[in-house]
This record gives sequence, C-alpha cells and structure tokens, in this order.
Amino acid sequence: MNRTGRVVFVGAGPGASDLITVRGAQRLAEAEVVLFDALTDPALRQFAPQAKWIDVGKRGFGRATGQTAIDALLVQHARAGRQVVRLKGGDPGVFGRLEEELQALAAAGVECEVVPGVTAALAAAAEMKRPLTRRGHGRSVSLTTAMTQQGRLQAGAHADTEVFYMAGRQLGALGRALRRSGWPAETPVLVVSRAGWPDALGSGHTVAALAEAAVLHAGRPAVVTVGAGALAIGPHAHHKLERAQVGAPASTP
Ligand code: SAH
Repeated sequence: MNRTGRVVFVGAGPGASDLITVRGAQRLAEAEVVLFDALTDPALRQFAPQAKWIDVGKRGFGRATGQTAIDALLVQHARAGRQVVRLKGGDPGVFGRLEEELQALAAAGVECEVVPGVTAALAAAAEMKRPLTRRGHGRSVSLTTAMTQQGRLQAGAHADTEVFYMAGRQLGALGRALRRSGWPAETPVLVVSRAGWPDALGSGHTVAALAEAAVLHAGRPAVVTVGAGALAIGPHAHHKLERAQVGAPASTP
C-alpha cells in the first residue's frame, strides 16, 4: 500500500459537540480512525460515523503505559496508511499530552497537523460572562495546573488572572496555597465545572473561603479562575448559573 497515513490532533472543545471548530469537524469527516479521550462528547460521533472510534481514555490504562500505548496506536494506524484523528478535550496543546504524542510521531516520521480547540479556561469565562482580561488591571492570564509531576499542589501569583486546571479535588488546599503565595484573602475566585455543557455550574468565592466550593462541584471537571478575571461585571450582572453561587464575589469593579 502506498497511501500515506497522517494524524490530525483535533481539539474537541470543552463540552457539547457544537463547540468543536468547523475545521475540526471537517477533519473528523475525513477520518478513518478516531482515538478519543474520556472527556469528549459522545455526540461528536455524528461527525465521523464512517470511522472506527477507539476509546483511549486513561481509565483502562495505567498512567505511563497508557501514554506509550496511545503513542504506539497513533504510529501503527498512520503507518498502515490511515487518516487518523486524535481527538482531545478542549485544546490539544493545553494539558493534553500533545508534546509526547508529537514526539512519537516525529520519531516515526509520521506527518501530522494540529487543529486548535476551545480550552476549558475560555469556556468557563464565556459561561460566566467574565472576560479573562480587563483593561488596566487584568493584563495577564496564566493557565496553570495546580499539580506538579510529583503530585504536589502548587500555586503562585504570576499573573493578574490565574486559571487552575485539575484542582477540583483539592479546592481547600488550593485556597491555602494561594494565600501563602500572596493572594489577599478577599481576592475573587470563580469555580466553573462542566463549562460548555448544558449542566455547567459556576460559583463565586474568595481565596479565603474557596473550600466551600468543594461539595458543589464534587466529581465534575472544574477550572478555578483567580483574580481580575473572576470579578463580576456591573451591579446588575446576572446569569442563569449565578443562581448556584455560594458566597458573593469579594467586590465589583
Ligand atoms: N486539554 C483540556 C484540558 C485537559 S486537562 C483543555 O484544553 O481544556 C483536564 C482538566 O481540564 C480537568 O481536570 C479540568 O480542570 C479541566 N476541564 C476539562 N473540561 C472542563 C470543563 N468542561 N469545564 C471545566 N473544566 C474542565
């Protein structure tokens, strides 16, 4: 066979299937094989009913072997001449193990492309109608994972707005770490879980009282937005999600 296979990394977006990009949907329509993660919407299958869908969500694998097995599958299918889509939640390049998979493909000489997606931080900001940047006082945004590779929780104060991924299970500890790294106790914090899904939930807190959000968002993927980007807009700001607020944001601009 002399057809050349290739791999397209496609960002599925954070939730409901209509948040994928048009380009991403087009690549799915051309795919013969789709390797997908746990957090992607099953409704995305409508874009590639012709393809073989393979679940590579980490549940079935141990961590290290899981990544190696995924790398090997990508190379194997591309070498067999297939059009492969590697579908990842949010954006492939944000906490998505894209680096490892690109390295594996480069080492094997497999051609690839990356199609961006809406990352959870952006979906959360849109969901709550709270812009991540603010003129004058919100000039920088950092996307951070609170967990180090060694499994320790770490938080800093590097930007006007910090968005933490993968911290949903340790909100109390994150609040304390934020205090230690210099964020004032009354700094506004927004927790948004399942952003982009119909059952998205958002709540406003302060750094000091962040632990109170744990029960509300238990068991749901969540991002935590701290600082300028968490401030509510205007005195009459309201949104269907704000009914779920526990504790008011510290202040309004
Ligand atoms: N590549 C993804 C992130 C994968 S890491 C992206 O760009 O969004 C997984 C973490 O992302 C979760 O622990 C959670 O912090 C966050 N996350 C993923 N989907 C989410 C969603 N719909 N709402 C809120 N947070 C989400």
